[in-house]
Amino acid sequence: MCAGCFIHLLADARLKEEQATCPNCRCEISKSLCCRNLAVEKAVSELPSECGFCLCQFPRSLLERHQKEECQDRVTQCKYKRIGCPWHGPFHELTVHEAACAHPTKTGNELMEILDEMDQSHRKEMQLYNSIFSLLSFEKIGYTEVQFRPYRTDDFITRLYYETPRFTVLNQTWVLKARVNDSERNPNLSCKRTLSFQLLLKSKVTAPLECSFLLLKGPYDDVKISPVIYHFVFTNESNETDYVPLPIVDSVECNKLLAAKNINLRLFLFQIQK
Ligand SMILES: [Zn+2]
Repeated sequence: MCAGCFIHLLADARLKEEQATCPNCRCEISKSLCCRNLAVEKAVSELPSECGFCLCQFPRSLLERHQKEECQDRVTQCKYKRIGCPWHGPFHELTVHEAACAHPTKTGNELMEILDEMDQSHRKEMQLYNSIFSLLSFEKIGYTEVQFRPYRTDDFITRLYYETPRFTVLNQTWVLKARVNDSERNPNLSCKRTLSFQLLLKSKVTAPLECSFLLLKGPYDDVKISPVIYHFVFTNESNETDYVPLPIVDSVECNKLLAAKNINLRLFLFQIQK
């Protein structure tokens, strides 16, 4: 592979199909079939990428450690978070904050209130996990890896959206679609990124199909998703859900997803039987 191919491959990695032509040597590059994919991956890992906090450039392979452990600007939380301090800020301000933090001097009564609130959000989390566990004992469960691929709308100002190829789960054909910042006009002008998605039933059903569904991280990608269970009754007349938030933990994580070419996740479908 010539250097031109390589650069072209990287530059185009987001929107083009699997086949691309190198503008330098005109050779066809196939990303998935290229026998030098491993070399490409290694080279990619050495390419500079930007730290989301301090905006300095680092080799991709060192970036994660830098962002997690070394960057002086990385967002950190106060050690008194456990007793309710909501402070978070750049690491280099942490020591000053903790020395002045008001939380350790609060009275027992004040702390009791804070602990009650924390108990409540803990209870909500437990409810979520309990409902996932009860869904897991349903008779009809299906799951599959889904790949959201980027496309552009035909509008004058094109918009980025994602769609998966059709897939079969629970003997039905489905498609997932996703959009960025709910397709607002200029998502590039907003620094907060969110993704929402909808599930579409493509096959005909003889009776309403009531389902719970859940998107989670797939086996090969490292996406931080906080699980949310959604419900919908699919019929031939009403065969697509509304757009619902894809619960990615934060905007940084969302940008990471958008920077990758495809978004790989795993979809779980639970059929509710009457
Ligand atoms: Zn604090």
